[in-house]
Amino acid sequence: MTEKIILLNDGRSQAPAVPATLEAPTGSLRDQFARPLHDLRISITDRCNFRCVYCMPKEVFDKDYQYLPHNALLTFEEITRIARLFVEHGVEKIRLTGGEPLLRKDLERLVGMLAELRTVHGKPLDLTLTTNGSLLARKAQSLKDAGLQRVTVSLDALDDAIFKRMNDVDFAVADVLHGIDVAHKVGLGPVKVNMVVKRGMNEQEILPMARHFKDSPAILRFIEFMDVGSSNGWNMHDVIPSAEVVRMIGAEMPLVPVDPNYTGETAERWRYADGGGEIGVISSVTHAFCKDCSRARLSTEGKLYTCLFATRGHDLRALLREGRSDAEISSAIGALWRVRGDRYSELRTINTEGLAQGRDGKVEMSYIGG
Ligand code: SAM
Ligand code: SF4
Ligand code: SF4
Repeated sequence: MTEKIILLNDGRSQAPAVPATLEAPTGSLRDQFARPLHDLRISITDRCNFRCVYCMPKEVFDKDYQYLPHNALLTFEEITRIARLFVEHGVEKIRLTGGEPLLRKDLERLVGMLAELRTVHGKPLDLTLTTNGSLLARKAQSLKDAGLQRVTVSLDALDDAIFKRMNDVDFAVADVLHGIDVAHKVGLGPVKVNMVVKRGMNEQEILPMARHFKDSPAILRFIEFMDVGSSNGWNMHDVIPSAEVVRMIGAEMPLVPVDPNYTGETAERWRYADGGGEIGVISSVTHAFCKDCSRARLSTEGKLYTCLFATRGHDLRALLREGRSDAEISSAIGALWRVRGDRYSELRTINTEGLAQGRDGKVEMSYIGG
């Protein structure tokens, strides 16, 4: 029997301390390294209808796997309340994720509630969502109508056999491509397409994917296979460095670097020299970008993580459900961000066997949200 080393939930989390003196949010919170709080990712379900081998491998996420019970999940009202407090601290961008966010019932109602929030500058939020695309064709119009602005769709191959091997539930490429088309048609573009590249699995798909999305409205981004969680059997030898991806594509379709849209953008941008659009590379292993990391993550059950590789969260749900005021919860969030010193990717060391050293018990991506 496979040994389950996965954290069903993060048993080390505690409710954060509420400071004795409450501080009103200034809209410009900074952490220990002067990094602002700009971006909030909210995981709205820990469930998924795919079993991507690098994220929710079937051997671990099998029929006996215990997902969170419904009453453990934050309600839409709780999510919106926390999101509003984060926005008052300076958050301008919210991404809904999971698990597969389109599996959460009545998601459109949550989108509608979040779309009403305004940044400290009085502007609408950049409200987006990451999905595996399986239900996108069906839901794109209602999500757009509810106020969603854009979507990112994950797609790891154009070849059906390879894609099915990666999603491990026999899901066909054509259905995801159809979802991307519908998203464009209803105005959820430009759609970003995320391709996780894993050596020995889908590197032969790099060029076909680049050719397919060149001259299309979608922006393809290549993501290095990351050592998130503890269940995906990560090894450095399976990582194809982004520099190699850029070299490979550039040799056939010349590329020119492009400036980032904003400080802290995760993807490094390149455009085709012939005007055929752009690609991005996300190099969290070979070229860490902690220095500008302005992202916080809220897990499905309301724990705040200040780093994707954290081993412990801060239980904001406990504060909500023990009846704390907005001022108390907001002060607790402010105090947490001010002491934040996370920079896991910069500090990660790899041993001679290709294994990442130094941190056990990292929470899973499907729980914390990608
Ligand atoms: N289910 C949705 C999806 O697949 O788009 C949203 C959640 S998923 C965890 C978010 C993103 O994380 C996806 O683009 C996925 O490919 C990426 N991801 C998951 N595990 C990863 C890993 N080990 N390394 C790099 N990216 C990973
Ligand atoms: Fe599901 Fe997304 Fe993880 Fe794939 S990457 S298993 S689609 S949560
Ligand atoms: Fe941000 Fe942590 Fe990733 Fe560094 S390792 S970029 S701090 S989430």
